Amino acid sequence: MGRIAAGQGGNTAGQGANTAGRGGSGQGGGIAEQAERLHALIQDSESIVFFGGAGVSTESGIPDFRSESGLYNAKSKYGRSPEEIISRSFFDASPEIFYEYYKENLIYPDARPNKAHIALAGLEASGRLKAVVTQNIDGLHQLAGSRKVFELHGSVLRNICLGCGARYGLEYILDPENCVDGSGRKGAAPWCKSCGGMVKPDVVLYEEALDPKVMEGAADAIRAADMLIVGGSSLVVYPAAGFINYFRGRHLALINKSGTSYDGRAELVIREAIGEVLGLLPV
Ligand SMILES: [Zn+2]
Repeated sequence: MGRIAAGQGGNTAGQGANTAGRGGSGQGGGIAEQAERLHALIQDSESIVFFGGAGVSTESGIPDFRSESGLYNAKSKYGRSPEEIISRSFFDASPEIFYEYYKENLIYPDARPNKAHIALAGLEASGRLKAVVTQNIDGLHQLAGSRKVFELHGSVLRNICLGCGARYGLEYILDPENCVDGSGRKGAAPWCKSCGGMVKPDVVLYEEALDPKVMEGAADAIRAADMLIVGGSSLVVYPAAGFINYFRGRHLALINKSGTSYDGRAELVIREAIGEVLGLLPV
C-alpha cells in the first residue's frame, strides 16, 4: 500500500484482472450485494467526493474518443489521432478540421444524464456528497442537478471568443449561420458575432494547461473528504491518478469495468458499469 504503481504497468495488469472479475458479475446477487457494501460505506461518511472518468458518460451514449474505436474513427477519416486533432496547435493551425472532428465526435447535444449522474445529484442533495470532480466535458452532472462540479477539462457548453472574450453557449457554435467566415465561406468553425474573432470551446485541449483554480478546488475537496468514490476511470489518463493521491480519508471505493492500478489501495472495488451500481443505491 501507499506506493503508487506506474500507470502503464497497472493498466496491463488491470486487463487480466477484469476478465477474472467478470465471473461474478452476471449472477444476480453480485452487483446488488456490492452496491449494498457501497451504500454502507456511504452511510458511514459525511464528506464524500466523487471522481469520474469517461465511463460515467458512456452510459449516456457518449463514447470515449480515446477508445480503440475512437482512435480508428479519427485515423480513418482524418489520418490523425484524436490527441493530435484536439490539440491547441492543431486548433490554431486548422480550426476548420478541428471543428469538423470536434462536432462529430465530442458533441452530443441529445445526451441525457444516466443513473450515475442522477444518483450523484441525489447524494449531493442529501448533504453527504460535497463535490463531483469530472474529466468529462458534457455538462451532464449539472443537467442532473449537481451543483458543486469541478470540470477538470472544461465544458462543451461554454465557448469563448479569442478576440474579445464574448461567451457563447453550445447552440451558438452548432448554428451553421455562425460558421461563416469573413469572406462568406461556410464551414464548421464558429465566428464571434461582435468582433468576428474565432470562437474556441472552453475545453482544455492537449498542450493546454488545466485551469489552476479548478485543479485547486478539486484537490481541496478530495483532501477534505472522508470518502472518495472513483467511477468510470481506469486512472491512467492524466491527471486522474494524481488526484487520488490527495485523498487522506477512510473509505476509497473504485467502480470501473476493468481493473486499475489502484485496486489494491481501495476498500471496495466493483468491476461493473458505474451507472448500474449507483442506480442500485437506495434514494
Ligand atoms: Zn469576439
